[in-house]
Amino acid sequence: MWLPNNPLMKRDGAGDSREEALAYMEATIGDVGTASSRERKEAFVDSIDECVTMLEKLGMEFARAADYPDYYPELPGGKIGRAIEVKLFDAKDLPEEWWETSRGKSDGVAFPMMTDDMWLIARAWSTPSGFMRGAKFVFRGVGGAVRGRRDIGMGAGLTASFMTVAQRQGTQVWLNSPLEHLVVEDGRVVGAVVTKDGTQVRVRATRGVMLGAGGFAHNAEWREKYHGVPVGWSSANKGNIGTTIEIGQRHGAAVALMDDAWWGASIPAPTPEMNPSFLVNERSMPFSIIVDAQGNRFANESES
Ligand SMILES: Cc1cc2nc3c(=O)[nH]c(=O)nc-3n(C[C@H](O)[C@H](O)[C@H](O)COP(=O)(O)OP(=O)(O)OC[C@H]3O[C@@H](n4cnc5c(N)ncnc54)[C@H](O)[C@@H]3O)c2cc1C
Repeated sequence: MWLPNNPLMKRDGAGDSREEALAYMEATIGDVGTASSRERKEAFVDSIDECVTMLEKLGMEFARAADYPDYYPELPGGKIGRAIEVKLFDAKDLPEEWWETSRGKSDGVAFPMMTDDMWLIARAWSTPSGFMRGAKFVFRGVGGAVRGRRDIGMGAGLTASFMTVAQRQGTQVWLNSPLEHLVVEDGRVVGAVVTKDGTQVRVRATRGVMLGAGGFAHNAEWREKYHGVPVGWSSANKGNIGTTIEIGQRHGAAVALMDDAWWGASIPAPTPEMNPSFLVNERSMPFSIIVDAQGNRFANESES
């Protein structure tokens, strides 16, 4: 998670500041409308401390990805080591139903690996430090399996860790319960209608309804309309078809930056059930270029 000037950096004396974080955001994002206003950038930077501290109090354990650079480290305010991630997390106690449906299990990196392991392990056969890290990784994996642990890191560890907080707090989580409509009374959203076990259920909200259903990476029609890409291969969640964006728009919500996305070189999956491979550490291999099936180089390997 890219969280500049976060509490872990402060504890480490890593040297970051609100001003540098905002300078970097101005240099990379700039002003592209209300979604990127100065107030929003400040709100993001200023709530990082509270957010991380609150999650730590709820039992989440974080570590710095100290080697991971900003995507444009050369721009004003750019740095290395602003990201944090969860420490290796034992997902053994997660309810089986949650683990079975987690992307960590289905197509994530469900093994005890952290961000900074990745680039070193890629050099396991070419540098001594890479070899040491590779050996540690193997021992960690085998040792954990022998002790009956299910240690996972990165996105899989993060989401499993969040789910454990939800479980500990007794938060009800309904799987496979898509939002269908919002309930509006006197011009105010007061609830939601979701399909649960094949039946439409109306849920009354006391405070409000938060829509968090991703983007529209798997909506072919919208990708054509907004991105000019007929199909594309997206590694994003297959459920991201823009339903809640459409529902929000129906109720007068504004949208922004629909023409943009996080683009990156990928390899299409051999079968439609699988996700494509998003190329990250492959691109960091020294003295290598990546070509397509016709032998044409299709991306700048050094591009963020
Ligand atoms: C390959 C890859 C690597 C990434 N690496 C990083 C990284 O290193 N660091 C980082 O910070 N970010 C990373 N990201 C980005 C990050 O994963 C996303 O920004 C983040 O997951 C978005 O969270 P979200 O909750 O908004 O949406 P999502 O995680 O996409 O979740 C949306 C959920 O809503 C569900 N949904 C859809 N429609 C409905 C509906 N009608 N009713 C109910 N549910 C619905 C979907 O099925 C999905 O489960 C990466 C993304 C990808 C694809």
